[in-house]
Amino acid sequence: MGSISGDTQPHHVVLFPFMSKGHTIPLLHLARLLLQRRLTVTIFTTPANRTFISESLNDATAFILDLPFSHDVTDLPAGIESTDKLPSMSMFLSFANATKLMQPDFERALQNLPRVSFMVSDGFLWWTLESASKFNIPRFVFYGMCYYSCCVSRAVAIDRLLSGLESNNELITVPPFPWIKITRNDFEPPISEGELKGQKFEFTMETIIATLLNSYGIIFNSFYELEPLFDDYWNRECTPKAWSVGPLCLAEPPKGRTEPHNKPKWVQWLDKKLDQGSSVLYVAFGSQAEISPAQLKEIATGLEESKVNFLWVIRKCESEISDGFEERVKDRGIVVREWVDQREILMHESVQGFISHCGWNSVLESICAGVPILAWPMMADQPLNARMVVKEIKVGLRVETCDGSVRGFVKWEGLEKMVKELMEGEKGKEVRKKSKELAEMAKKAMEEGGSSKCTLDLLINETCGKM
Ligand code: UDP
Ligand code: UDP
Repeated sequence: MGSISGDTQPHHVVLFPFMSKGHTIPLLHLARLLLQRRLTVTIFTTPANRTFISESLNDATAFILDLPFSHDVTDLPAGIESTDKLPSMSMFLSFANATKLMQPDFERALQNLPRVSFMVSDGFLWWTLESASKFNIPRFVFYGMCYYSCCVSRAVAIDRLLSGLESNNELITVPPFPWIKITRNDFEPPISEGELKGQKFEFTMETIIATLLNSYGIIFNSFYELEPLFDDYWNRECTPKAWSVGPLCLAEPPKGRTEPHNKPKWVQWLDKKLDQGSSVLYVAFGSQAEISPAQLKEIATGLEESKVNFLWVIRKCESEISDGFEERVKDRGIVVREWVDQREILMHESVQGFISHCGWNSVLESICAGVPILAWPMMADQPLNARMVVKEIKVGLRVETCDGSVRGFVKWEGLEKMVKELMEGEKGKEVRKKSKELAEMAKKAMEEGGSSKCTLDLLINETCGKM
């Protein structure tokens, strides 16, 4: 970085990811990119998340500071320091709200750090804007969402598109993008007064939006060529200024495991399947989704009936599947109950389709691997991401719910039909071709001289050059 040299002291950046895997992983990739640009990086987290971060970043030398996170004034069970440890996502709001208890310690730590050129903190850590302002640090918000979902959500909020509808499935046109149709089911139901039970929450949509508007910029884990129309729209019509610096997952060096005994058993299994070409369907729903036992059973039957090879990752708490299932499918299916390296799986030559909840990281990782998606959104921004995947960038198909609604139950027949279409059908071929094209574009964006690399350099120059 010639243009910011001249100073002898390297510029210093603070990153503060929200304490969930989906929000932490991309910021660790960003840390790698900043370190490659010879900046120094301090990452804030809670004690329980320290090991995950230090192990993930074992190839890079960032400083990690953990802040105590005692939330005994709230109704959260003790000792929970990341959302994937919550007994239920219904406690999410209490958790997010309790993060503010870290503010005094965060500010004490900032006081003792070398001068900070800029801060990137998660949108859910709204209070970090106030801390950044106290120390005169430009704060970038990281949401972990794509432009499409942000632009559509913004339009929905501004025009109050969800009120006065007949039903949750009524199709509504989004005025700035008249070809996009959404339903109330694409959004989380509003939190009712009853649910709040008289608790005072500072973490509300209003504070999240207000702190977004007052931040220096917003960092998108996306790349210009993926959603140019929405990137342009945001930077023309919305504030603050947005920067596309992704797909961040491409910042991580690929795993160079060649020794078979070093490979986890599921990768060895994928290796064995190579003699059947690309034939494996990867099935995973991220780190947060809660799937009912009845729904798990339907997935099992759907996979069994579809006769495809599959690798299914389930969370430990979901270990009940139907009786004898694993034994019956053992020649062509494997069920994994551990934390996997998802990118290693998606990049494996045996894998040719992905049933995904459409968490934005999973979508990007699938695109980067050129693997098409069978979209099965569950919550948060996933229904919008799924619309984007299927209708906008056309790298996926959607599972069939039994009532045709976004949030409906999926019967095994609806799953089997779409699995076959993705793996063997004409539509599957089309989305596979498109995924491979986008994989190439993603790679280019992250190369030196590519759009995302240039944007990151502009961001660094703008913030570090000022000092
Ligand atoms: N992930 C992983 N191994 C697992 C489960 C998840 O590496 O066993 C990673 C996945 O690759 C992605 C992130 O965790 O980077 C999940 O983020 P996403 O946005 O897809 O979903 P979320 O978990 O936030 O719902
Ligand atoms: N959530 C919420 N209020 C918000 C934003 C999110 O209650 O303002 C909830 C959302 O409904 C979901 C949970 O937070 O149940 C997780 O959201 P997140 O965006 O972390 O999910 P991810 O994209 O990582 O899967």
